[in-house]
Amino acid sequence: MAARAIVSLHPVVGHTELQARLTRAAESGRIPQSLLFRGPPGIGKQRLALWLASLVQCEAPQGRPCGQCTSCRLADDLQHPDIHWFFPLPSPKKVSGDRRRQKLEEARLEELGARRANPLWTTAGDEAASIFLPIVAEIRARAVRRPAMGRSSVFVVGDAERMVPQASSPEAANAFLKLLEEPAVDTLVFLTSSRPGALLPTIRSRVLEVRVTPPPLEEAQTFLVEHGGMGAAEAGAAVRRTEGSIGTVLGFAADGGPDARVEAGSLLACAVRGTRADRLRLAAGYPPAGARGAFSGMLDVLERTIRDAASVAAGVPEAALDPGIVDRITEMRSMPPERLVHAARHVETARDAASGNGNPQGIVAVLLADLAATFET
Ligand SMILES: [Zn+2]
Repeated sequence: MAARAIVSLHPVVGHTELQARLTRAAESGRIPQSLLFRGPPGIGKQRLALWLASLVQCEAPQGRPCGQCTSCRLADDLQHPDIHWFFPLPSPKKVSGDRRRQKLEEARLEELGARRANPLWTTAGDEAASIFLPIVAEIRARAVRRPAMGRSSVFVVGDAERMVPQASSPEAANAFLKLLEEPAVDTLVFLTSSRPGALLPTIRSRVLEVRVTPPPLEEAQTFLVEHGGMGAAEAGAAVRRTEGSIGTVLGFAADGGPDARVEAGSLLACAVRGTRADRLRLAAGYPPAGARGAFSGMLDVLERTIRDAASVAAGVPEAALDPGIVDRITEMRSMPPERLVHAARHVETARDAASGNGNPQGIVAVLLADLAATFET
Protein backbone atom coordinates (compact mmCIF):
# COMPACT_ATOMS: atom_id res chain seq x y z
CA MET A 1 0.00 0.00 0.00
CA ALA A 2 1.30 3.45 -0.91
CA ALA A 3 2.35 5.63 1.97
CA ARG A 4 0.10 8.57 2.57
CA ALA A 5 0.55 11.76 4.50
CA ILE A 6 -1.53 11.62 7.65
CA VAL A 7 -3.33 14.85 8.29
CA SER A 8 -5.53 14.69 11.35
CA LEU A 9 -8.96 16.30 11.44
CA HIS A 10 -8.93 20.08 11.37
CA PRO A 11 -9.78 21.88 14.63
CA VAL A 12 -13.36 22.73 15.54
CA VAL A 13 -13.97 26.37 14.63
CA GLY A 14 -16.07 28.72 16.72
CA HIS A 15 -18.31 26.46 18.80
CA THR A 16 -16.62 27.09 22.15
CA GLU A 17 -19.78 27.69 24.16
CA LEU A 18 -21.56 24.65 22.80
CA GLN A 19 -18.45 22.53 23.39
CA ALA A 20 -18.39 23.69 27.01
CA ARG A 21 -22.03 22.72 27.47
CA LEU A 22 -21.47 19.31 25.89
CA THR A 23 -18.37 18.77 28.03
CA ARG A 24 -20.33 19.49 31.21
CA ALA A 25 -23.00 17.02 30.11
CA ALA A 26 -20.35 14.39 29.33
CA GLU A 27 -18.57 14.88 32.66
CA SER A 28 -21.77 14.25 34.56
CA GLY A 29 -22.69 11.32 32.32
CA ARG A 30 -25.67 13.11 30.84
CA ILE A 31 -24.98 12.95 27.11
CA PRO A 32 -28.29 11.83 25.61
CA GLN A 33 -28.13 8.65 23.55
CA SER A 34 -29.56 10.36 20.49
CA LEU A 35 -28.71 13.91 19.46
CA LEU A 36 -29.52 15.96 16.40
CA PHE A 37 -27.09 18.77 15.60
CA ARG A 38 -29.08 21.19 13.48
CA GLY A 39 -27.97 24.40 11.81
CA PRO A 40 -27.02 25.97 8.47
CA PRO A 41 -24.88 23.96 6.04
CA GLY A 42 -21.11 24.14 6.19
CA ILE A 43 -20.70 25.45 9.73
CA GLY A 44 -19.06 22.34 11.19
CA LYS A 45 -21.90 20.23 12.57
CA GLN A 46 -20.33 16.91 11.60
CA ARG A 47 -16.95 18.08 12.83
CA LEU A 48 -18.56 18.97 16.15
CA ALA A 49 -20.30 15.58 16.36
CA LEU A 50 -16.95 13.86 15.72
CA TRP A 51 -15.37 16.00 18.41
CA LEU A 52 -18.05 14.88 20.88
CA ALA A 53 -17.45 11.28 19.81
CA SER A 54 -13.71 11.72 20.61
CA LEU A 55 -14.59 13.23 23.96
CA VAL A 56 -16.83 10.29 24.83
CA GLN A 57 -14.09 7.82 23.87
CA CYS A 58 -11.09 9.70 25.34
CA GLU A 59 -9.22 7.78 28.06
CA ALA A 60 -8.25 10.94 29.98
CA PRO A 61 -10.56 13.81 29.04
CA GLN A 62 -9.60 17.22 30.39
CA GLY A 63 -12.66 19.25 29.61
CA ARG A 64 -11.94 18.19 26.03
CA PRO A 65 -10.47 15.16 24.30
CA CYS A 66 -6.87 14.91 25.55
CA GLY A 67 -5.52 14.47 22.03
CA GLN A 68 -2.75 12.18 23.31
CA CYS A 69 -4.31 8.85 24.26
CA THR A 70 -4.66 5.97 21.80
CA SER A 71 -8.36 6.65 21.54
CA CYS A 72 -7.85 10.31 20.65
CA ARG A 73 -5.18 9.52 18.09
CA LEU A 74 -7.38 6.95 16.37
CA ALA A 75 -10.33 9.33 16.45
CA ASP A 76 -8.28 12.16 14.96
CA ASP A 77 -7.18 9.91 12.16
CA LEU A 78 -10.73 8.64 11.51
CA GLN A 79 -9.61 5.13 12.44
CA HIS A 80 -11.35 4.61 15.78
CA PRO A 81 -13.10 1.23 15.71
CA ASP A 82 -15.95 2.54 17.88
CA ILE A 83 -16.59 5.82 16.08
CA HIS A 84 -18.67 5.10 13.00
CA TRP A 85 -19.11 7.99 10.59
CA PHE A 86 -21.81 7.63 7.94
CA PHE A 87 -22.98 10.12 5.33
CA PRO A 88 -24.89 10.18 2.02
CA LEU A 89 -23.23 8.40 -0.90
CA PRO A 90 -24.09 8.13 -4.58
CA SER A 91 -25.95 5.01 -5.57
CA PRO A 92 -23.62 2.24 -6.82
CA LYS A 93 -24.32 1.26 -10.43
CA LYS A 94 -25.79 -2.06 -11.52
CA VAL A 95 -25.54 -4.00 -8.27
CA SER A 96 -28.16 -5.33 -5.92
CA GLY A 97 -28.57 -7.15 -2.63
CA ASP A 98 -25.49 -7.84 -0.50
CA ARG A 99 -23.23 -6.70 -3.30
CA ARG A 100 -24.84 -3.26 -3.10
CA ARG A 101 -24.18 -3.02 0.62
CA GLN A 102 -20.58 -4.06 0.04
CA LYS A 103 -20.14 -1.46 -2.74
CA LEU A 104 -21.56 1.28 -0.54
CA GLU A 105 -19.23 0.32 2.31
CA GLU A 106 -16.26 0.39 -0.08
CA ALA A 107 -17.33 3.85 -1.26
CA ARG A 108 -17.61 5.02 2.34
CA LEU A 109 -14.11 3.78 3.20
CA GLU A 110 -12.74 5.45 0.11
CA GLU A 111 -14.42 8.73 1.06
CA LEU A 112 -13.06 8.42 4.61
CA GLY A 113 -9.59 7.96 3.12
CA ALA A 114 -10.06 11.12 1.06
CA ARG A 115 -11.22 13.09 4.10
CA ARG A 116 -8.27 11.79 6.10
CA ALA A 117 -5.90 13.03 3.41
CA ASN A 118 -7.71 16.35 3.07
CA PRO A 119 -9.43 17.52 6.26
CA LEU A 120 -11.13 20.33 4.30
CA TRP A 121 -13.35 17.83 2.53
CA THR A 122 -16.43 19.12 0.85
CA THR A 123 -19.63 17.33 0.09
CA ALA A 124 -20.09 18.61 -3.45
CA GLY A 125 -23.79 18.91 -4.16
CA ASP A 126 -24.59 15.47 -5.45
CA GLU A 127 -28.37 15.62 -5.19
CA ALA A 128 -28.65 11.88 -5.78
CA ALA A 129 -26.40 10.97 -2.84
CA SER A 130 -28.48 9.39 -0.11
CA ILE A 131 -28.26 7.29 2.99
CA PHE A 132 -29.60 4.19 1.29
CA LEU A 133 -31.23 1.27 3.04
CA PRO A 134 -28.07 -0.92 2.89
CA ILE A 135 -26.17 1.83 4.73
CA VAL A 136 -28.78 1.83 7.46
CA ALA A 137 -28.58 -1.97 7.57
CA GLU A 138 -24.81 -1.62 8.05
CA ILE A 139 -25.35 0.86 10.91
CA ARG A 140 -27.84 -1.45 12.61
CA ALA A 141 -25.55 -4.45 12.25
CA ARG A 142 -22.72 -2.51 13.87
CA ALA A 143 -24.96 -1.19 16.64
CA VAL A 144 -25.66 -4.67 17.99
CA ARG A 145 -21.95 -5.53 18.28
CA ARG A 146 -20.04 -4.82 21.47
CA PRO A 147 -17.66 -1.85 21.28
CA ALA A 148 -14.19 -2.97 20.20
CA MET A 149 -12.10 -0.90 22.62
CA GLY A 150 -14.17 1.86 24.17
CA ARG A 151 -17.10 1.93 26.56
CA SER A 152 -19.54 2.74 23.80
CA SER A 153 -20.14 2.75 20.08
CA VAL A 154 -20.76 6.19 18.62
CA PHE A 155 -22.53 6.67 15.32
CA VAL A 156 -22.22 10.01 13.55
CA VAL A 157 -24.70 10.33 10.70
CA GLY A 158 -24.22 13.44 8.57
CA ASP A 159 -26.98 15.02 6.45
CA ALA A 160 -29.40 12.66 8.14
CA GLU A 161 -32.40 14.08 6.27
CA ARG A 162 -31.07 12.29 3.20
CA MET A 163 -32.27 9.10 4.79
CA VAL A 164 -35.70 9.77 3.33
CA PRO A 165 -35.24 8.48 -0.22
CA GLN A 166 -38.76 9.14 -1.51
CA ALA A 167 -42.07 9.86 0.11
CA SER A 168 -43.27 6.55 -1.31
CA SER A 169 -40.48 4.40 0.13
CA PRO A 170 -39.28 5.58 3.51
CA GLU A 171 -37.74 2.18 4.38
CA ALA A 172 -34.28 3.48 5.24
CA ALA A 173 -35.67 6.02 7.67
CA ASN A 174 -38.02 3.47 9.22
CA ALA A 175 -35.19 0.97 9.64
CA PHE A 176 -33.16 3.68 11.31
CA LEU A 177 -36.07 4.49 13.57
CA LYS A 178 -35.89 0.98 15.01
CA LEU A 179 -32.33 1.74 16.12
CA LEU A 180 -33.50 4.87 17.94
CA GLU A 181 -36.46 3.08 19.49
CA GLU A 182 -34.45 0.21 20.96
CA PRO A 183 -30.96 1.62 21.53
CA ALA A 184 -28.36 -0.63 23.14
CA VAL A 185 -27.10 0.89 26.40
CA ASP A 186 -23.62 1.41 25.00
CA THR A 187 -24.73 3.04 21.74
CA LEU A 188 -24.77 6.78 21.02
CA VAL A 189 -26.22 8.25 17.85
CA PHE A 190 -25.37 11.79 16.72
CA LEU A 191 -27.27 13.02 13.67
CA THR A 192 -26.60 16.26 11.84
CA SER A 193 -28.89 18.13 9.47
CA SER A 194 -29.19 21.53 7.84
CA ARG A 195 -32.79 20.69 6.88
CA PRO A 196 -34.27 19.08 9.98
CA GLY A 197 -37.75 19.78 8.58
CA ALA A 198 -37.07 17.02 6.07
CA LEU A 199 -36.46 14.36 8.73
CA LEU A 200 -39.27 11.96 9.52
CA PRO A 201 -41.24 13.42 12.46
CA THR A 202 -40.96 10.03 14.18
CA ILE A 203 -37.14 10.29 14.04
CA ARG A 204 -37.18 13.88 15.18
CA SER A 205 -39.33 13.05 18.17
CA ARG A 206 -36.69 10.58 19.40
CA VAL A 207 -33.64 12.82 19.30
CA LEU A 208 -32.63 15.74 21.42
CA GLU A 209 -32.03 18.73 19.17
CA VAL A 210 -28.90 20.81 19.61
CA ARG A 211 -28.94 24.08 17.71
CA VAL A 212 -25.57 24.88 16.16
CA THR A 213 -25.02 28.51 15.19
CA PRO A 214 -22.42 29.76 12.70
CA PRO A 215 -18.94 30.45 14.10
CA PRO A 216 -18.01 34.08 14.80
CA LEU A 217 -17.05 35.59 11.44
CA GLU A 218 -13.53 36.57 12.57
CA GLU A 219 -12.82 32.97 13.62
CA ALA A 220 -14.11 31.62 10.31
CA GLN A 221 -12.00 34.18 8.48
CA THR A 222 -8.85 33.30 10.44
CA PHE A 223 -9.44 29.62 9.76
CA LEU A 224 -9.77 30.19 6.00
CA VAL A 225 -6.56 32.20 5.99
CA GLU A 226 -4.63 29.63 8.03
CA HIS A 227 -6.05 26.43 6.55
CA GLY A 228 -7.76 27.40 3.31
CA GLY A 229 -4.93 29.36 1.71
CA MET A 230 -7.02 32.52 1.28
CA GLY A 231 -5.97 36.13 1.69
CA ALA A 232 -7.44 38.03 4.63
CA ALA A 233 -9.64 40.35 2.53
CA GLU A 234 -10.89 37.55 0.31
CA ALA A 235 -11.65 35.34 3.33
CA GLY A 236 -13.39 38.22 5.10
CA ALA A 237 -15.68 38.91 2.15
CA ALA A 238 -16.39 35.20 1.75
CA VAL A 239 -17.42 34.63 5.37
CA ARG A 240 -19.67 37.71 5.36
CA ARG A 241 -21.29 36.55 2.15
CA THR A 242 -21.94 33.06 3.53
CA GLU A 243 -22.65 34.12 7.12
CA GLY A 244 -19.73 32.12 8.44
CA SER A 245 -20.29 28.94 6.45
CA ILE A 246 -16.74 27.70 5.94
CA GLY A 247 -18.07 24.69 4.06
CA THR A 248 -19.90 26.89 1.57
CA VAL A 249 -16.79 29.00 1.00
CA LEU A 250 -14.81 25.83 0.35
CA GLY A 251 -17.26 24.63 -2.25
CA PHE A 252 -19.83 22.77 -0.21
CA ALA A 253 -22.79 24.05 -2.19
CA ALA A 254 -23.34 23.06 -5.78
CA ASP A 255 -23.36 25.68 -8.50
CA GLY A 256 -26.66 24.63 -10.02
CA GLY A 257 -25.62 25.60 -13.55
CA PRO A 258 -26.84 28.28 -15.96
CA ASP A 259 -30.42 27.00 -16.16
CA ALA A 260 -30.85 27.27 -12.42
CA ARG A 261 -29.57 30.86 -12.56
CA VAL A 262 -31.99 31.86 -15.30
CA GLU A 263 -34.86 30.28 -13.41
CA ALA A 264 -33.87 31.85 -10.10
CA GLY A 265 -33.68 35.22 -11.90
CA SER A 266 -37.19 34.81 -13.29
CA LEU A 267 -38.61 33.94 -9.89
CA LEU A 268 -36.95 36.96 -8.32
CA ALA A 269 -38.11 39.33 -11.04
CA CYS A 270 -41.66 38.09 -10.63
CA ALA A 271 -41.53 38.49 -6.84
CA VAL A 272 -40.19 42.03 -7.17
CA ARG A 273 -42.28 43.34 -10.08
CA GLY A 274 -45.08 40.90 -10.81
CA THR A 275 -48.74 41.15 -9.86
CA ARG A 276 -50.51 38.49 -7.84
CA ALA A 277 -51.82 37.03 -11.10
CA ASP A 278 -48.28 36.87 -12.55
CA ARG A 279 -47.09 35.02 -9.48
CA LEU A 280 -49.89 32.47 -9.63
CA ARG A 281 -49.31 31.93 -13.33
CA LEU A 282 -45.59 31.33 -12.80
CA ALA A 283 -46.27 28.90 -9.94
CA ALA A 284 -48.83 27.02 -12.02
CA GLY A 285 -46.10 26.30 -14.59
CA TYR A 286 -44.27 24.12 -12.05
CA PRO A 287 -44.91 20.39 -11.77
CA PRO A 288 -47.10 19.17 -8.91
CA ALA A 289 -44.47 16.64 -7.74
CA GLY A 290 -40.73 15.92 -7.64
CA ALA A 291 -39.31 18.79 -5.64
CA ARG A 292 -35.95 17.19 -4.98
CA GLY A 293 -33.11 17.38 -7.47
CA ALA A 294 -32.94 20.26 -9.95
CA PHE A 295 -35.70 22.24 -8.25
CA SER A 296 -33.90 22.12 -4.89
CA GLY A 297 -30.65 23.11 -6.62
CA MET A 298 -32.38 26.13 -8.15
CA LEU A 299 -33.65 27.20 -4.72
CA ASP A 300 -30.08 26.97 -3.41
CA VAL A 301 -28.99 29.34 -6.17
CA LEU A 302 -31.87 31.69 -5.40
CA GLU A 303 -31.06 31.77 -1.71
CA ARG A 304 -27.39 32.42 -2.35
CA THR A 305 -28.23 35.21 -4.78
CA ILE A 306 -30.45 36.99 -2.27
CA ARG A 307 -27.85 36.56 0.46
CA ASP A 308 -25.20 37.95 -1.88
CA ALA A 309 -27.46 40.92 -2.62
CA ALA A 310 -27.84 41.44 1.13
CA SER A 311 -24.05 41.51 1.52
CA VAL A 312 -23.73 44.04 -1.27
CA ALA A 313 -26.47 46.17 0.25
CA ALA A 314 -24.52 45.99 3.52
CA GLY A 315 -21.36 47.26 1.83
CA VAL A 316 -19.47 44.15 0.68
CA PRO A 317 -17.72 44.78 -2.66
CA GLU A 318 -19.86 44.16 -5.74
CA ALA A 319 -17.54 41.45 -7.00
CA ALA A 320 -19.41 39.05 -4.75
CA LEU A 321 -22.56 39.30 -6.86
CA ASP A 322 -23.70 37.08 -9.68
CA PRO A 323 -24.23 39.70 -12.39
CA GLY A 324 -26.34 37.31 -14.47
CA ILE A 325 -29.09 37.48 -11.89
CA VAL A 326 -28.85 40.71 -9.99
CA ASP A 327 -28.35 42.92 -13.06
CA ARG A 328 -31.82 41.89 -14.10
CA ILE A 329 -33.31 42.87 -10.77
CA THR A 330 -31.66 46.22 -10.16
CA GLU A 331 -34.20 47.04 -7.42
CA MET A 332 -32.38 44.61 -5.15
CA ARG A 333 -29.35 46.87 -5.02
CA SER A 334 -31.29 49.52 -3.15
CA MET A 335 -33.19 47.32 -0.72
CA PRO A 336 -32.32 47.37 2.98
CA PRO A 337 -30.06 44.38 3.81
CA GLU A 338 -32.36 43.24 6.64
CA ARG A 339 -35.20 42.88 4.20
CA LEU A 340 -33.05 40.78 1.89
CA VAL A 341 -31.93 38.57 4.76
CA HIS A 342 -35.59 38.09 5.63
CA ALA A 343 -36.30 37.16 2.00
CA ALA A 344 -33.45 34.63 2.04
CA ARG A 345 -35.10 32.95 5.04
CA HIS A 346 -38.28 32.47 3.02
CA VAL A 347 -36.22 30.69 0.36
CA GLU A 348 -34.66 28.54 3.08
CA THR A 349 -38.13 27.50 4.21
CA ALA A 350 -39.03 26.65 0.61
CA ARG A 351 -35.86 24.60 0.30
CA ASP A 352 -36.72 22.65 3.43
CA ALA A 353 -40.12 21.87 1.94
CA ALA A 354 -38.45 20.84 -1.32
CA SER A 355 -36.02 18.49 0.38
CA GLY A 356 -39.02 16.81 1.99
CA ASN A 357 -40.12 16.27 -1.61
CA GLY A 358 -43.07 18.64 -1.41
CA ASN A 359 -45.05 19.93 -4.37
CA PRO A 360 -43.08 22.50 -6.43
CA GLN A 361 -46.26 24.28 -7.57
CA GLY A 362 -47.36 24.90 -4.03
CA ILE A 363 -43.84 25.69 -2.82
CA VAL A 364 -43.34 28.33 -5.53
CA ALA A 365 -46.78 29.88 -4.93
CA VAL A 366 -46.11 30.30 -1.23
CA LEU A 367 -42.54 31.46 -1.80
CA LEU A 368 -43.49 34.12 -4.36
CA ALA A 369 -46.24 35.46 -2.10
CA ASP A 370 -43.83 35.61 0.87
CA LEU A 371 -41.08 37.23 -1.19
CA ALA A 372 -43.44 39.79 -2.72
CA ALA A 373 -44.74 40.71 0.74
CA THR A 374 -41.17 41.03 2.04
CA PHE A 375 -40.00 43.18 -0.87
CA GLU A 376 -43.05 45.45 -0.66
CA THR A 377 -42.90 46.19 3.05
ZN1 LIG B 1 -7.73 11.23 24.81
